[in-house]
Amino acid sequence: MRIPNAYYLIIDLEATCSDDGSIPESEMEIIEIGAVMQNSKTFEIESEFQTFVKPVRHPELTRFCLELTKIRQDDVDVAPLFPQACEMMKGWMADFPDVLFCSWGNYDRNQFVTDCNFHGIEYPFGAEHINLKAQFSKSSGPRKRVGIAGALKYLGLEFEGTHHRGIDDARNIARIMRHVCKNV
Ligand code: AMP
Ligand code: MG
Repeated sequence: MRIPNAYYLIIDLEATCSDDGSIPESEMEIIEIGAVMQNSKTFEIESEFQTFVKPVRHPELTRFCLELTKIRQDDVDVAPLFPQACEMMKGWMADFPDVLFCSWGNYDRNQFVTDCNFHGIEYPFGAEHINLKAQFSKSSGPRKRVGIAGALKYLGLEFEGTHHRGIDDARNIARIMRHVCKNV
């Protein structure tokens, strides 16, 4: 029998984006890493990590991106570049040796791979990744795949904090996990 990992490492990323095609999907870059360490037995969040990241391909955030994420231009201007942000995250993760990388959909994993390749750094997670969005619709959720806000609504919960901010999205994904797996 597979021994469950001690922690769910729930990560939600925000990235550069546009609504007019000025930033193609292939050129999107991470601008926020939001992460929570959720104990897989108690479903309590035991630690959190958040950093903004300075994008290099499209350093000026579009109006669309500013409005979607509520991240300010100043936040990213003074933020570390991706390799340094990744090192900071790895430092935080080092206290938790047995983690399983989870995110709502595969986007966050794919964007991490893209940014690691672009900057020529090693992917910081193990090979395993859980797509919680897919799991949710397969098990307890609606048949159609839904976003974080949709899943919360389905469970009768409200989004807490600011939607499309990495750290708040990650916290809310953890709430969905706790509700589904522990019923609280
Ligand atoms: P989310 O975790 O849902 O906030 O989305 C992560 C990232 O995906 C955002 O920071 C944007 O870069 C991109 N994104 C999300 N929704 C949209 C949208 N409606 N149009 C374009 N890009 C989006
Ligand atoms: Mg998000």
